[in-house]
This record gives sequence, structure tokens and C-alpha cells, in this order.
Amino acid sequence: MFENEERTNLEDLGEFGLISHLTKNIKLGQPSTIKGVGDDAAVLDFTGKKVLISTDMLLEGIHFDLAYTPLKHLGYKAIQVNLSDIYAMNGIASQVTVSIGMSSKFPLEAIEELYEGIYIACEKYNVDLIGGDTTSSKQGLVISVTSIGYADEADVVYRNGAGEGDLICVSGDLGGAYVGLQLLEREKLVYLENPNIQPDLEGKDYIVERQLKPEARRDIVELLKSIAVKPTAMIDVSDGLASEILHICKQSDKGCNLYEEKIPLDPMTYETAREFNLDPTVCALSGGEDYELLFTVKQADYDKIKFKMDITIIGHITEPSAGCNLITTSGNSHPLKAQGWNAFKNEE
Ligand code: ADP
Ligand code: MG
Repeated sequence: MFENEERTNLEDLGEFGLISHLTKNIKLGQPSTIKGVGDDAAVLDFTGKKVLISTDMLLEGIHFDLAYTPLKHLGYKAIQVNLSDIYAMNGIASQVTVSIGMSSKFPLEAIEELYEGIYIACEKYNVDLIGGDTTSSKQGLVISVTSIGYADEADVVYRNGAGEGDLICVSGDLGGAYVGLQLLEREKLVYLENPNIQPDLEGKDYIVERQLKPEARRDIVELLKSIAVKPTAMIDVSDGLASEILHICKQSDKGCNLYEEKIPLDPMTYETAREFNLDPTVCALSGGEDYELLFTVKQADYDKIKFKMDITIIGHITEPSAGCNLITTSGNSHPLKAQGWNAFKNEE
């Protein structure tokens, strides 16, 4: 779980000692950050911009399993999943706050590894860590991140703007994070049965990374800006393609046709899904945690995006009475259902 073998008891440091230890090397880079960590509140200045704010909470045992999630990756992922929400509004992410609750089983070295991942993500995506909260928990680890960003009013993209005839586009490929999770869960069971057997993840780097180390698609927001395409609606793929397109259609009061054969799947995702007797299309539709961007564009923008690597057109928006449909490779039409991964799935 943690690589560092040393164990410094958190109680020896105390809350304030821990906070100052974790935040002492912060460098602020955003012009909008006036004051970061160290006062009762951070101070930001977004002169003339619309401010975007989003929060996500991750709980041990619900959202992550430390049996196969290195803490450094967890910190990195906690930041990525939050930045993804700012990019899904077509915004620029600029600050985050990080709040953690941890039980006494975590030594300082573990929290340091978590923060190492947090800082790597912040630096790579040019966001300032400006505050948070630190508390103890009875059991396990809780991480809550709030991401803050900004955009010109005219640039903000909501879920509700899709129009009839718009093209439905998605970045990257789908289903990989879910299939990667299946693989990690399987290897965990093998290990629990026989701790002498080392996990066999050989050749599966891509899908394991999709699960453990997702990348928010800032590059897609920048690409769209550079070719002067403003999506009519956008959402990030955290719960699976089906659930997300249904959100766009519902909020836009429209229907859609998605084409199974167009859904982008990485070959490793495809093969590994097959090994697990899973339908790769279902993994893309219902798997989740891919953190790709799903968006709609006007047909007039077709020429601008048709040859863009990493953007795939997978369907179009229809009138609402037509419903939301998946057109299968064999040509049949099925109503789309949201079976998104969700935190309550174990309670069914
Ligand atoms: P308060 O008592 O006002 O809540 P704290 O002692 O909790 O203040 O926090 C002191 C400063 O450290 C604040 O600026 C806060 O935002 C920051 N901070 C607290 N916990 C964290 C954390 N886990 N990560 C980053 N900054 C933190
Ligand atoms: Mg506090």
C-alpha cells in the first residue's frame, strides 16, 4: 500500500504540524490566486470571468481499494477526477482544495505519498492547491477535493444545449478503466488466496493505468478552442457513456442515436473484456471512470473535427420523441439504459 517503510505516528505531529508539513513547499502559479493556504480562507480574483466550482468525495472501500491502489496514484486520481468536471464545462482549472480524513492506521509517510500524487497532478495541470481541511476518521481514508476554474461567459458549455441534428462526439476510448478494475479485483482475490502469487498484470499496462491513473482531458478543451469549435453540450464520462448521453439528452430535451460500431475501444480493453466474458460495448456504455469528454457539436463543425485524432463521432441528436437509442452493429435499435457504475451498487 505505501512504499515508504518508515512509520511516523501522526499524533506525534499534531494537526497543525501535519498541515504545515504537507503544505510548506506550495508554489502558487495562478494570477487569480491572491492568498492560498495559511489564513481562514483563501482569496481569489477572477476579474470579469465566470467562476466554476465542483466537488467530489472519495471514500475508502466505496471508491477505492488500497489493496491495489498506491496512495500516490490515489492522490493523482483524486485531483484528475475533479479537474475533469471543470474541463467538462469548457473551463480552465486554476485551483483546488483538498480535505482529508484519516484513521490512525495511516502513518505520516502514507499521507506524504498521497500528497506527492496530489502535487504531481497540480503541477502538471497548472492548478494551485489553496487550502483544505484535515481531520481524523474512525475508519479508513476519505478525500474530498473541490476544484475551481474559470471561463468567459460565452465559453461556458452546459449539459442542456444539444440541438437536433448535432453530432455526438467523444474523446479517447471507453471502457478501459472498468476492465482495468476487473483485472485488479481478480488479482487481489488471487493474492488473498495465496499471498505467494505475484499479481499478473503483464501486458495490461494501458487498462491498469486507465483505472489507477486517469488523465483529465484539458487537451481536448484546448484543441476545440484552437479550431474554434464550441460544443453545444458537454459532460465528462465518469459513470459510463449511456448514463452521460442520457443526462445530455434529458437536460436538452432531445433524443439520440448512438452507433455501437463507432464507440471507440482500445484493443487491450476489447481483448481483456472478452477474457472476462464481458461485452466490450457494455463496458463502454456502463463501465465508467474513463474521464473522457462527451460533447455535441453543430453539423456545420463537421469538417473541423472529422479528422481529429482522439475525437470520434459516435452518433447524433434527434427529436425527443424518438428516444435515446443504441443502434447495434447488426442494425437493431435498443433503448439506452443508464446502468452507470454507482456507489450504491453493493446495496442492491
Ligand atoms: P481552520 O481552523 O480555519 O479550519 P485549519 O487549521 O483547518 O484552519 O487550516 C489552516 C490552513 O491550512 C487553511 O488555510 C486551510 O485551508 C489549510 N489546510 C488545512 N488542511 C489542509 C489540507 N489537507 N491540504 C491543504 N491545505 C489544508
Ligand atoms: Mg479546518
